[in-house]
Amino acid sequence: MNKIGVHALTFIGDIENTSVENCLSKAAKIGYDVMELPLLNPDALDTDFVSKAYEKFNLEPTVSLGLSYKTDIASEDLDRVKAGRELLFKALDKTIDVGSSNLCGVIHSALQKNDAPRTDVGYANSLSVIRDLAEKANKNNVTLSLEVVNRYETNIMNTAQEALNYINDLGVSDVKVHLDTYHMNIEENNYSEPIKKIGNDKLGMFHFGENHRGYLGSGHINFEETFKSLKDINYSGIITFESFSSEVVDPVLSNTLAVWRNLWSDSEDLASEALKFIKNGLGS
Ligand code: MN
Repeated sequence: MNKIGVHALTFIGDIENTSVENCLSKAAKIGYDVMELPLLNPDALDTDFVSKAYEKFNLEPTVSLGLSYKTDIASEDLDRVKAGRELLFKALDKTIDVGSSNLCGVIHSALQKNDAPRTDVGYANSLSVIRDLAEKANKNNVTLSLEVVNRYETNIMNTAQEALNYINDLGVSDVKVHLDTYHMNIEENNYSEPIKKIGNDKLGMFHFGENHRGYLGSGHINFEETFKSLKDINYSGIITFESFSSEVVDPVLSNTLAVWRNLWSDSEDLASEALKFIKNGLGS
């Protein structure tokens, strides 16, 4: 049985206490097990309050973030690498304090459109920071999962194979891969090969997103193949529904992800339909 999660931006555009509580209450009412917190600004999270709120609504926290130009650990600019290292370690502290065992997302590089391929020096800088971060994460029972995203959002890993190469280059055994159907649709040949290539041992997080980021099943992602492939590898981790619309805006993340259109306006209907869709597909 997979735990099923929902990304906070389905409901809220900030992580203030009242917003998080409101979001948890709705996610719990709909029947989710997990709520993913975007932590682009770790300082904004009141872990004391938020960890209690998760307990109150009996939901499990997961944490994700994307680095920015100024905190790009895959840069050749050592000031930016240092800023990214500090941000990631702060985010890991918050992950631990909020009681989560998962830190995922684009933590390997800036979530941005790059105007050149990655460089060897930048790639080595990214590996070096993630290696150190993984050491602390493992001591605190947190799993790092590196999200494979499309070419417009990173130049470090666009395919499952590139993520495996990166993990191989890291040389530490416990860093995992985070796949997302929205990105696989752009970069992979299909959905089964990447899922099987990563396998249950290395797949740390899985995002369900439609090709336009709206209602699951309303676009052209091959979810049938996705569900079958996850079953074939006996995927036991968390599946999180991720969707974005101009209806709910995080001033940073929404612009970074190019969320310009209104794809839905009723968060609760959207999230409730998504949960039904995922449960149906899993046959649970
Ligand atoms: Mn995602």
